[in-house]
Amino acid sequence: MSDHVPQIDLTAQHRHLRSAIDGAIGQVIASGRFILGDTVDAFEREMAGYLGVSHAVGVGSGLDAIRLSLQALGIGAGDEVLLPANTFIATALAVAAVGARPVLVDCRPDTFGLDATQLDRAVTRRTRAIVAVHLYGQAADMTAIPEAASRHGLVVIEDAAQAHGAEWETRMCGALGRAGCFSFYPTKNLGALGDGGLVTTSDATLAADLRVLRDYGQREKSVHVKKGTNSRLDALQAAVLQVKLPCLDAWNARRRAIAVRYRTALAVTPLVLPFCDPRATHVFHQFVVRTSERDALRRHLTACGIGTAVHYPTPIHLTEAFQDLGYRVGDFPEAERASREVLSLPMYPELPDGHIERVCEAIVKFF
Ligand SMILES: *Cc1c(COP(=O)(O)O)cnc(C)c1O
Repeated sequence: MSDHVPQIDLTAQHRHLRSAIDGAIGQVIASGRFILGDTVDAFEREMAGYLGVSHAVGVGSGLDAIRLSLQALGIGAGDEVLLPANTFIATALAVAAVGARPVLVDCRPDTFGLDATQLDRAVTRRTRAIVAVHLYGQAADMTAIPEAASRHGLVVIEDAAQAHGAEWETRMCGALGRAGCFSFYPTKNLGALGDGGLVTTSDATLAADLRVLRDYGQREKSVHVKKGTNSRLDALQAAVLQVKLPCLDAWNARRRAIAVRYRTALAVTPLVLPFCDPRATHVFHQFVVRTSERDALRRHLTACGIGTAVHYPTPIHLTEAFQDLGYRVGDFPEAERASREVLSLPMYPELPDGHIERVCEAIVKFF
């Protein structure tokens, strides 16, 4: 096998942007301001403008974006928060971190998004919020979920960690709930050179509270008004993200073009290809196919030198970490079936057409 086809290759993106990123980093070093300050302020304004929200608050990670949003909204011990069973564990960890109970809801088999028809029966007197996860780069049903939330007086928080630039109807993910939570983990559609996160909101009070919470609960220097934490976006990361943000739409367009190529070439196979809700603009953080022969297909692709990934092999309720919730096998059948059947093919904007062809040929040969 001549060259390996990785599932993702971050070096390709940085090769293009290397001199601009070096320049941005050099400016931060010259300024001597590494924590918060002008660079972080500027990036927050640019993100708010891009997403169409009034406020953006840079934090230390995507996990902290969700955790601090819950804390700022006063959600904690004794409260319940609804979230999908098939998400990255950070969504559930953020709820547990504030002392609230994660209450899981099954997903739809087509979009893998939270099944809004199951929300009503999951609500109790203690339910305070729903975390809608825009999994794989496609918005959850942001018509039905907010409708269910308003029937029960719940807050909607978006986990948009996989959905930078994704839309639901005419609005951006991150602008659809009370708070939008982003991660800049390096593999995300907009990724830093390390950890980072951001909360978006059009609620000025919530934004002000988040600014206090991320910085030791300080309202001003040495005036500590809340039991906050240290979770700030680094100026170095903000400077790198400022270089990358103008590229995001073109990168997402290339991801969609790659998806079209996969779809065309794989139509002859029995794979179930991604279902796109016509109301959503998918940004293909992952291109996820499903088949009951997932493990055999994955082994075949590995043998052909093709990298793949599984997002995620264990639904939240079956992880060792969340055994205390008391769920059992069979409680969320669609999430469980997805965990056995999903496979993420190579996907990143710089993925060469030749690699896409090799992936598709290898899959066609398998079937
Ligand atoms: C990546 C991710 C997170 C967590 O982001 P970090 O920056 O790694 O803390 C949360 N939710 C989802 C759906 C993610 O994909």
